[in-house]
Amino acid sequence: MKFNTKAIHSGQEPEKRTGAVVVPVFQTSTYAQESPGKHTGYEYSRTQNPTREALEACVAALEGGRHGIAFASGLAAEDALMHTLSAGDRVVCSDDVYGGTYRQFERVFRKHGIDFAWVDTSVTANVEKALEKGAKILWIETPTNPMLKLTDIRAVSALARKAGALTVVDNTFSSPFFQNPLELGADVVMHSSTKYLGGHSDVVGGIIIVREDELAQRLRFVQNAVGGVPGPWDAWLVLRGVKTLGVRMQRHFENALQVARFLESHPKVERVIYPWLESHPQHALARSQMSGMSGMITMYLASDLDGARRFLEKVRVFTLAESLGGVESLIEHPAIMTHASVPPQIRGSLGIADTLVRLSVGIEDVSDLLSDLDAALAAV
Ligand SMILES: *Cc1c(COP(=O)(O)O)cnc(C)c1O
Repeated sequence: MKFNTKAIHSGQEPEKRTGAVVVPVFQTSTYAQESPGKHTGYEYSRTQNPTREALEACVAALEGGRHGIAFASGLAAEDALMHTLSAGDRVVCSDDVYGGTYRQFERVFRKHGIDFAWVDTSVTANVEKALEKGAKILWIETPTNPMLKLTDIRAVSALARKAGALTVVDNTFSSPFFQNPLELGADVVMHSSTKYLGGHSDVVGGIIIVREDELAQRLRFVQNAVGGVPGPWDAWLVLRGVKTLGVRMQRHFENALQVARFLESHPKVERVIYPWLESHPQHALARSQMSGMSGMITMYLASDLDGARRFLEKVRVFTLAESLGGVESLIEHPAIMTHASVPPQIRGSLGIADTLVRLSVGIEDVSDLLSDLDAALAAV
């Protein structure tokens, strides 16, 4: 089966008792047993829930994995992966990750004795060097947030395998429609389903996808033992979003490419970063490991902080808000908003300047998006 067919049918057989075509919201905490210990396979909803299982099976199929393990948020999914480690273990990590990932690793798990080495994984040689000291996990985000740097998934996962480390890819920015890290050699894919999977900015969730049974068992154990599970309603909302993932991503891509080209030719814009532009330094790598790009664009305004503020106050169709990946276009200022938890000197070294603006291009009519940006840029 191909992508859109899987999105609509994987894990989503008509319900047995009534034939309900849509997987019901099993809003129950517990399940009746016939005799002590004799049950239908469902005991308690932290451990098993049919709505959540449908979501897990569907996203696993979309990523080419065998197991999906869903969580209450993307960060809860990351927390579960970190909980498979022990004090003294080391993680090699992309230096330009989601701000909350950085905060969790440095401020929660470092205290528990996990060591994190932050490297620019867009340069494969850096990864090779960092892995020399050994690591349990190589954690990459590609494209990164907000600088849209790419890491060569094939190359680094081969290096990690040799070094005995698992490769984890935060695939939130691409969605399974444009990039399938397991097929490129990675061991684990993680998504904030709050973003493209859910797609409507109405739910917070996370999910991990793996191929190997033993690794899935370890993660299932943490899912149940730590308990960061999504409720059945949230699982249902993400599953509903996933059905249209393919059509939404195609439209995000079409719109974003036009917006990126428009911005690139605009005199008030200093530089546009979008992996599908020929000007992106890793455009060839983008084409070799992705089949397209989502709606995420980063740009530097030819201005200063005040100019950036005026621009962001002036947009009308774009909404000034954190988050990304929904049908509506959002715009934000990483240094003040999403990446405020990254220390200023690290922000500076990554290029997260005061004139940096991040766009999440939605699926509205692109002509409205272009005229909105054009009008707001006049204020810069
Ligand atoms: C949002 C996001 C996360 C965290 O997910 P939550 O659902 O907000 O907990 C992790 N990684 C990336 C790339 C994200 O965009």
